[in-house]
Amino acid sequence: MAVTDDEDFYMKKPDESRPRLGISACLLGQRVRFDGGHKNNRFITDTLAEHLDFETVCPEIESGMSVPRPTIQLRQVGDEVRLVESKRPGHDLTQQMTDYAQARLDRLSHLDGFIFKKDSPSCGVFRVPVVINEHGYRNREGTGVFARAFMDRYPLIPVEEEGRLNDAALRENFLERVFAYRRWKEIPAAERNVQGFIEFHTRHKLMLMARGSGVYQELGRMVAGVKVADLAQRREAYIQRFMQVMEQTTHRGRQINVLQHIMGYLKDLLTREDKQELLGTFEAYRHCELPLITPITLLRHHLRIHPQPYINQQYYLQPCPDKLALRSV
Ligand code: SF4
Repeated sequence: MAVTDDEDFYMKKPDESRPRLGISACLLGQRVRFDGGHKNNRFITDTLAEHLDFETVCPEIESGMSVPRPTIQLRQVGDEVRLVESKRPGHDLTQQMTDYAQARLDRLSHLDGFIFKKDSPSCGVFRVPVVINEHGYRNREGTGVFARAFMDRYPLIPVEEEGRLNDAALRENFLERVFAYRRWKEIPAAERNVQGFIEFHTRHKLMLMARGSGVYQELGRMVAGVKVADLAQRREAYIQRFMQVMEQTTHRGRQINVLQHIMGYLKDLLTREDKQELLGTFEAYRHCELPLITPITLLRHHLRIHPQPYINQQYYLQPCPDKLALRSV
């Protein structure tokens, strides 16, 4: 496999192409909510906007509702969950929203991820309230109608809710998936490019290892021996499993295994003091005294001095632009 000898290769790669995210429009400060307000999210508008492009979607406005408008909700009606006006439950908007969604989704296949507004009967992904009886009792088992349609149409595209982005682990996991999915889609001439397929897998080895032992081997078996004749079939199966695996959050023990694995490539090249310093950062990370970025930054420093082509090309060392400050908490 072709490997660059550019020592800063992994520092530049993620910036080559900006992923494109769908965003619930109110999260970008657009005044599209039922009351004419918005829910501007500063992390999205200030931080993510520097490194990702956005495509706003407001399913309620785009499906024909006005601003201001009556509030709507999910409501259990028989065996079905319907989208209705809160004060006029007989006014059922489900078909209107579903018809709109099917047409709109045709124009969203290029997205690399989607950030939805939480709790919305149109946009919410997790635990959206559903009114289940005439007394207004609610469970929280719903999914917004548009969000559901999006996930059904595009099961590979990473989705997240804006509220969950406050959780460092969930935020990191989402962004790692977005950038990985973008890289997958950018394999040149993907339908014939066996080498590109193998390289994608190889360069994500350590990110997969951080999700659990055996996962890399499992996916490796899907790549082994691939030929142009069966590339399309293998690719489809691979990316489904890859995105599933990437959704798993990792933990400190697994991260330390990966750090030790990287250090193994340097063991004959580092001084005793360097090794002690590295192991000290691993232990401090294990005990929550340092963020993961500290041992990774130190390893990157040593890898600049002692390049190891196979390791230097690993996306684990920089899955996204540094300014997104992943692994800093
Ligand atoms: S949550 Fe979705 S439907 Fe509601 S205002 Fe925001 S973008 Fe529009």
